[in-house]
Amino acid sequence: MLGAICGDVIGSVYEGHNVKSKQFPLFSKKTRFTDDTVLTVAVADAIINKKYFGATIHRYSNQYPKAGFGGKFRDWMKSKHPKPYGSYGNGSAMRVSPVGYAFDTIPAVMRLAEKTSSISHNHPDAIQGAQAIAVSIFLARNGKSKPEIKSYIETEFGYDLNRTIDSIRQTYKFDVSAKGSVPEAIIAFLESTDYEDAIRTAISIGGDSDTIACMCGGISEAYYKTIPADIVDKVKQLLPPNFLIIIDEFYQKVVK
Ligand SMILES: [Mg+2]
Repeated sequence: MLGAICGDVIGSVYEGHNVKSKQFPLFSKKTRFTDDTVLTVAVADAIINKKYFGATIHRYSNQYPKAGFGGKFRDWMKSKHPKPYGSYGNGSAMRVSPVGYAFDTIPAVMRLAEKTSSISHNHPDAIQGAQAIAVSIFLARNGKSKPEIKSYIETEFGYDLNRTIDSIRQTYKFDVSAKGSVPEAIIAFLESTDYEDAIRTAISIGGDSDTIACMCGGISEAYYKTIPADIVDKVKQLLPPNFLIIIDEFYQKVVK
């Protein structure tokens, strides 16, 4: 999950200013955590402390209302009795990484991913996007190879993962739909050589950079098993103490 958070933080300044290149500074003065991080921590908190996903995500989002939440999600946040609103966006795939560690079987991971998604993002595309990221993480952390992960995701989710990042980069535009950003995040992981390269690759296509890097980063951490220490240190300095407590607890109790 820290891999997802680092991706969000590094991508934070590139969502509004796409780079379309793998050469860019990882951190700048404006680098910050965004909504992806807030809700990833919320999902982790709900898992380790056995809380309701809907109530926990609602509470966290209202504690950090300026983290970059989208318009319709803001309405959901403000509602006293929030209901799923048919979103097919990537908002549930960006927060799902802890789910990939929570269970030891694919069906259990699939069910939990659906649960975390359907409290707000109950459109089949959004649920599928969250499940695809969670299952990719599950397969990666269980030692599956990239060809194995690619073929499983293609077969089960119907995503076209045969495109190259170079070809995507040429025409890719801002697209917050799950269908239009989850497969691209997975391709960035498949093409990468290590964690940092995965984040650079994900951001280089442009679009919703923090979220694409977040989704790609969650899988890449599970696969490469390590995130460079200087990246983790920098990112942790930008997180509130209550997030760090949940993150530490999640690694102790769930990731191990
Ligand atoms: Mg964001």
